[in-house]
Amino acid sequence: MRKNIVAGNWKMNTTLPEGIKLAEEVNDALKAVEPKCDVVICVPFTHLASVNGVITETKKLGLGAENCADHKSGAYTGEVSAAMVASTGAGYVILGHSERRQYYGETAETLREKVALSLENGLTPIFCIGEVLEEREAGKHFDVVKAQVEDGLFNLSAEDFGKIILAYEPVWAIGTGKTATSDQAEEIHAYIRGVIADKYGKEVADNTSILYGGSCKPSNAAELFAKPNVDGGLIGGASLKCADFMGIVNAF
Ligand code: PEP
Repeated sequence: MRKNIVAGNWKMNTTLPEGIKLAEEVNDALKAVEPKCDVVICVPFTHLASVNGVITETKKLGLGAENCADHKSGAYTGEVSAAMVASTGAGYVILGHSERRQYYGETAETLREKVALSLENGLTPIFCIGEVLEEREAGKHFDVVKAQVEDGLFNLSAEDFGKIILAYEPVWAIGTGKTATSDQAEEIHAYIRGVIADKYGKEVADNTSILYGGSCKPSNAAELFAKPNVDGGLIGGASLKCADFMGIVNAF
């Protein structure tokens, strides 16, 4: 069966000492609880190896990067490969976040490369999809997310697709304080699961974790996570404070 997952996305926040301190706080907080979900923190590349060094609750707390390169290795100054990420001890990588699609021109083509390289290196992609406000207002959100899933992932075999975590993140809800209602989240998560079922069959679809992201916080997490097709959250702002992040983890 699919897993419940709460994953933090620190984005471009925290210096290395601040990041180590935050990771230590989350690691310590997890000692005291038995979370009903997998917990992951996705941190800047510069922090990965050091943060991996402070995680002792390895069964409860996973580590991820926020991106990786679309090439294996070589003359790509400034890029960080999937193999490099995996060599730090990380097990996850966020791919296709709307900020990367919007500000760094990530396309379905580059994402397919990144997904393939991540899987080759044993990393679990947390693959982000979601519509912008104008698309929702025009009633195009179903078509937009369907195209993002099809174009970015439907080249995969059923076996490889089964290794993917999806994160539905309406762009209008990211960092805006405006959360999708739990009914809006459920409606589109159920639709996405149907799209997966049409391609790979019901079993693969039922086993795919689909996270919600977009201004998720301790006060709204329980209602979102109670929906049958919402399998957890990708958490931006609220993952930067241990108490808030744990409030979301403990919402399960
Ligand atoms: C995100 O960027 O993945 C995200 C969900 O951000 P926030 O929680 O801050 O809206």
